[in-house]
Amino acid sequence: MSAPRIVILPGDGIGPEIVAAARRVLDAVGQFSYSEHPLGGASIDAHGRALTDEVLRACREADAVLLGAVGGPRWDTTDPDAPRPEQGLLGLRKGLGLYANLRPVRPSASLLGASPLREERIAGTDLLVVRELTGGIYFGDSGRDGDRAHDDCVYTVAEIERIARVGFEAARGRRRRLTSVDKANVLETSRLWRETVIRLAADYPDVELEHMLADNAAMQLVSEPARFDVIVTDNMFGDILSDESAMLTGSLGMLPSASLGDGGPGVFEPVHGSAPDLVGAGTANPLATILSAALMLRHGLDMPAAAARVEDAVEAALARGVRTPDLAWVGSETPPMSDLPGEVEVGTEEMTAAVLDNLEG
Ligand code: NAD
Repeated sequence: MSAPRIVILPGDGIGPEIVAAARRVLDAVGQFSYSEHPLGGASIDAHGRALTDEVLRACREADAVLLGAVGGPRWDTTDPDAPRPEQGLLGLRKGLGLYANLRPVRPSASLLGASPLREERIAGTDLLVVRELTGGIYFGDSGRDGDRAHDDCVYTVAEIERIARVGFEAARGRRRRLTSVDKANVLETSRLWRETVIRLAADYPDVELEHMLADNAAMQLVSEPARFDVIVTDNMFGDILSDESAMLTGSLGMLPSASLGDGGPGVFEPVHGSAPDLVGAGTANPLATILSAALMLRHGLDMPAAAARVEDAVEAALARGVRTPDLAWVGSETPPMSDLPGEVEVGTEEMTAAVLDNLEG
């Protein structure tokens, strides 16, 4: 059997550093053939556009795509006609038909103390946010008319059905609880959402379905996160609630994501951005990208055993006490004395090596 083909899109900022770390981890658990291409600001610099047709074609022909992050102050502009790095991400999602974004949130046992929430609140949290990615208010008609502006939110039954199915199926593979989040008390799109989800539930009698208003979900996520299994929601609520969930882990540097469509390659990437403030410092946390590679192994390449090995290796590295600065001493005013056992602050390289140690040993 030929090696799975992975397209690597390092992107901008810390993207190349963290993607290189993930690639070393992948090489420790399997054999892959890679091709690497610019995206975002790097592609604007090279080709004048954030995503070229050639790169999109390469992605379509791959088995999976591993992405770093795009963007940075260098490409920030208020000129509406200038190319912007995020256009690369949106073009990729559209071009590959990626309509489902999956973000698992399971705080590491070693990092419970790093969360801004009290340990007893987050203990036992293991949830998955399934966000609709290509519809809703971010893609509706928008415009200005004098001192008025509008952004239309549109959803069709077909769009709701396909994302709801992803939610139901994901719940089936987990603890069989699905929370559908909407604002059916005020929004017509949310009422269509709720009706459609209720109708589909007949196909999934083994999954327990509940509906929750988005404002209540925002509250429950911080007051009782362990109550959730799978959350399915629209594009904008998902955007906000998945970032809120991110904080349960204590650092954006820990959160992976998968964007999936029907059949073709998925895109796997950390939730965080390109962290321009950390470029070249050698201190970026590579774990979100390494865990994204694990998601790629599981959901993109059908290699669940290799995925579990990577996740276990990350957990073991953290249990040993190594911490990149974003994880170290969060919540404590003074760093521990260096001669005491416990946490040791490390950079990207040492953190990657600690993960690799647990794979090669
Ligand atoms: P960011 O996620 O890049 O950074 C937010 C904070 O988290 C910063 O303090 C940063 O240092 C820290 N951080 C992020 N990733 C880290 C890691 N791996 N290890 C340690 N610390 C980490 O968000 P931002 O500052 O709002 O945006 C910076 C750039 O990234 C912008 O150009 C933005 O448009 C872009 N962005 C891209 C994506 C993406 O590619 N998917 C997502 C969000 C933001």
